[in-house]
Amino acid sequence: MKLGLIAPGDVAAQGLAKEIDVDENFIAQLRAIAGDNGVLSGAAVSDRGAGFSRSGTRAQYLVRPRSTDEVSAVLKLAHAARQPVVTHGGRTGLVHGADSKADELILSLERMNAIEEIDPVQRIAVVQAGVVLQQLQEAVETHDLIFPLDLGARGSATIGGNVATNAGGNRVIRYGMTRAMVLGLEAVLADGTVVSSLNRMIKNNAAYDLKQIFIGSEGTLGVVTRVVLRLFERPRSQSVAFVAVDSFAALTTFLKHIDRALGGGLSAFEVMWRDFYLLVTTPPAKGTPPLAQAHPYYVLVESQGADAEHDALRFEEAMAQALEQRLIADATIAQSDRERHALWALRDDVGQVGQFGAPFVFDVSLPIAAMETYIDGVRAQLLARWPDCRCWVFGHLGDGNLHLVIRAGDAGGTARTAVEGIVYTPLQPVGGSVSAEHGIGLEKKPYLELSRNAQEIALMRSLKRLLDPLDILNPGKVV
Ligand code: ZN
Repeated sequence: MKLGLIAPGDVAAQGLAKEIDVDENFIAQLRAIAGDNGVLSGAAVSDRGAGFSRSGTRAQYLVRPRSTDEVSAVLKLAHAARQPVVTHGGRTGLVHGADSKADELILSLERMNAIEEIDPVQRIAVVQAGVVLQQLQEAVETHDLIFPLDLGARGSATIGGNVATNAGGNRVIRYGMTRAMVLGLEAVLADGTVVSSLNRMIKNNAAYDLKQIFIGSEGTLGVVTRVVLRLFERPRSQSVAFVAVDSFAALTTFLKHIDRALGGGLSAFEVMWRDFYLLVTTPPAKGTPPLAQAHPYYVLVESQGADAEHDALRFEEAMAQALEQRLIADATIAQSDRERHALWALRDDVGQVGQFGAPFVFDVSLPIAAMETYIDGVRAQLLARWPDCRCWVFGHLGDGNLHLVIRAGDAGGTARTAVEGIVYTPLQPVGGSVSAEHGIGLEKKPYLELSRNAQEIALMRSLKRLLDPLDILNPGKVV
């Protein structure tokens, strides 16, 4: 029985008194599990967003369990009642993966926010799913270690959400995506079964690696409740440069050069196409241009190491070589924390696109060799249809990941669908992906088959049926 969302007055009129009895009983049982303030309803639920918009939250009830046992009890109850459940972390996703319908129950992990353990010898942290990313980053630093996952939403995004979406971010080139930092996890299945797989070792080949089923599953295969994360020694040095590049061929050669020259120290290689650079270095943006604005490409290069003096020297030498070999046209190297911060602020000032209304945001990946032709093609198609359109391109080039922010048409439904076609269709022939790091959610579901073949999607659906036969976990999302 799904949650009826009919006001009590309407119920009698519609002769549905029996259904509301069941609902009240269901809510009473939720309260019995999670406590009185563990169940929210009305405005306390609808005022919350799902992702960056509020419109995605239609659910009327939200349950906030305090432990894995309570999550298990909630799911057992929901399973018996065939009640669909949408799990919420920090609600910072970008693909409507946390949207809820009126008859769905939100399961928020916000009260499971304890860092249970930090072990500096094993270099692991054991955390509950509701821990905020930045909270963990700061706690770990007091042990002279780092948790290297980093992204703009660090102050709100939770570890559970990072795991459920296999979040990427700015330092993937050095440390990999979230998947690479998860050693073990605990998840609750749709029927309430707790699968505790809290491995603490880097190596463990004892049969199937079950955690991988849940990482990136976007709440459709289970609810992640606790995670064992890998920690790393805190780097002692950081070098940041901003460089201008005059051709795409030089850009890819420069990436190889700098990675080789820094001997494993490269920790970010963030490329900006000229449009994006102009956007973030021209008023009303607060940023000022560190280099002339006439070049087609700009790169923020970051290196992390162990010896400030020695590393800075090596970094400068690598840049000088690149200039000599004409791989780069110009460069500036930050000389202080303030300058490093100012250069990163340019890359992070994506919010400037807001001055042009609500744009469409894309997150694709494709082989580096195919990028130049791909972007030129997308731009040409957009301009042919909307001569006054805007298209800003930037991204984590070393990971094959580009972000496109496009303002075209009236921002309504037909323009959106047409732009999606222009962006997604050319990815298939080059083996690209409609989602590099944001996930599928609802937004990219119609395009999944451009990046996954029929056999892959069939296996995904088999897994879904096996783990969630009644389809109560984030139904309608991903596959
Ligand atoms: Zn990104």
